[in-house]
Amino acid sequence: MPDIPLRAKPPKIKKDRAHRETNIGGKSHLKDTRDEYDVIVIGSGLAGLTSANCMAKQGRKVLLLEQHYILGGLAQYFKRRGHIFDISLHGFPIGMKKTLRKYWSKELANNIEQVKSVRFDNPQFTLETTFTREDFTRIIVEEFGIPEEKVVGFYDHLAAMNYYDENTMTTREMFEMFFPGRTDVWRLLMEPISYANGSTLDEPAISYGIVFSNFMSKGVYIYNGGTDDMINKMEQILIDNGVDIRTKCLVQKIHVENGIATGVTVNGQRIKAKCLISNAGIHPTINKLVGPENFSKDFISQLDDVKVNTSSCQVYIGIDKEEDVPYFGDLVFTSTHPEYDSDALTAMDITSRTYSVYYPEMRPERNRYTIVASINSKYNDWADLSDAEYQTAKDKMIDETIQSLEKYVPNIREKIHYLEAATPRTVEYYTLSHMGTSFGTKFDGLKISQELPNQVKGLYHAGSVGIIMSGWLGAANYGVIISNSADKYIASLEQS
Ligand SMILES: Cc1cc2nc3c(=O)[nH]c(=O)nc-3n(C[C@H](O)[C@H](O)[C@H](O)COP(=O)(O)OP(=O)(O)OC[C@H]3O[C@@H](n4cnc5c(N)ncnc54)[C@H](O)[C@@H]3O)c2cc1C
Repeated sequence: MPDIPLRAKPPKIKKDRAHRETNIGGKSHLKDTRDEYDVIVIGSGLAGLTSANCMAKQGRKVLLLEQHYILGGLAQYFKRRGHIFDISLHGFPIGMKKTLRKYWSKELANNIEQVKSVRFDNPQFTLETTFTREDFTRIIVEEFGIPEEKVVGFYDHLAAMNYYDENTMTTREMFEMFFPGRTDVWRLLMEPISYANGSTLDEPAISYGIVFSNFMSKGVYIYNGGTDDMINKMEQILIDNGVDIRTKCLVQKIHVENGIATGVTVNGQRIKAKCLISNAGIHPTINKLVGPENFSKDFISQLDDVKVNTSSCQVYIGIDKEEDVPYFGDLVFTSTHPEYDSDALTAMDITSRTYSVYYPEMRPERNRYTIVASINSKYNDWADLSDAEYQTAKDKMIDETIQSLEKYVPNIREKIHYLEAATPRTVEYYTLSHMGTSFGTKFDGLKISQELPNQVKGLYHAGSVGIIMSGWLGAANYGVIISNSADKYIASLEQS
């Protein structure tokens, strides 16, 4: 084992969106494509993959175009020096099991397992939970001393919320109503959700309610086998169902004629389709691929108001193959900040990190430990750093993360074999996600996404928009919903 862990070398070129978009693959990646498909899916995130699969199962001719050399989008992994690092496999709701079973395969669904231990460690409390309603109730009543009827009242209030109601209450106001001044309870209830999707106390309580009811009621789940296993199996299912998959294929233009989507230009080649599903972000789909001139002014001004969620930094820690890491939880939310504070969660001066620990059971055939530290971050803090500043900030983030990890694994430094870090710039570079967002847009993006086919016939968007349609489960489910609409549209063309 090296005395000093191996670190990724600084890139020789600035890896940014412009570089990605000007270094596209050639037409050879499109060899033997048809002139026309029933549907072209742009992007292979979980929404794009699931849409493509559903459409193919309906018997449609599907072309799936992905600009990266690998499928998955943000549901991604990478291999370095014998380690496999998962980027977004930290936890999702139980619903993922049903979605995989219904729209992919039983085999995939059988790999969904509950995360055993979720831990919190911050100046206000240190505790372990199963992330279920029962366990949260127990903790808030027994450890935080809140009367049970208050907690039940809070849950009843969440259950009665309706997404379509006009509801202006913020999450802060709702917490103040049920747990006045109890910032420790607010932290327990809010911090995991902020980590997951960057939401703050000043956003609508309804969006909090939906995520809480979905995510924090029946535990946290993970795909056992790793992202690579899931994406590889999905790729095989797509091939079996007849999807024409093309990677290194950047869609440069969506063509619209007389208000109807007619096809794309990809790697400089034009291909026609009856219908398009874009899994690229909602902003780039409208502003870059289609062009704002194809939409009403009112629609574009609504899009301008849609904010994207924050981005992420990650530190990837590969443990030497001869070493092990004593169990210290599967998902560990840590912070040294005195109270919950959404600004502090995304600050360059990092005080909060979530550790995902992948024990050898995740990929038994490799028998390795890896740890991924996730840190919420703002794109603009990283976007304009010079190359030297960028490298210094990355090195600082890695060093401080190892230091903070020593609290949980005292001799961790001696065990590390490989280190690497990602920033919002990395997220943007590999997935072209708008401002490197990890969870797409805030809740108002959903309305724009759903309105798209009313603006341009035959054009659909599937991807992380709004709180309910984000994350692995939300993206996959939205892919199903959109494929149903797209399928009906194609059927209507066939009848006319
Ligand atoms: C660090 C991090 C941690 C996360 N942790 C979790 C978690 O624990 N649990 C959870 O549920 N979710 C998590 N997420 C979020 C989750 O991964 C995403 O919400 C989800 O995967 C997004 O899927 P999507 O379908 O919206 O598309 P994306 O994953 O954004 O994929 C879009 C695809 O489109 C491609 N594309 C874009 N433009 C073009 C173009 N012009 N031509 C061709 N292809 C194009 C991109 O390359 C990409 O493959 C995390 C995300 C990040 C970044």
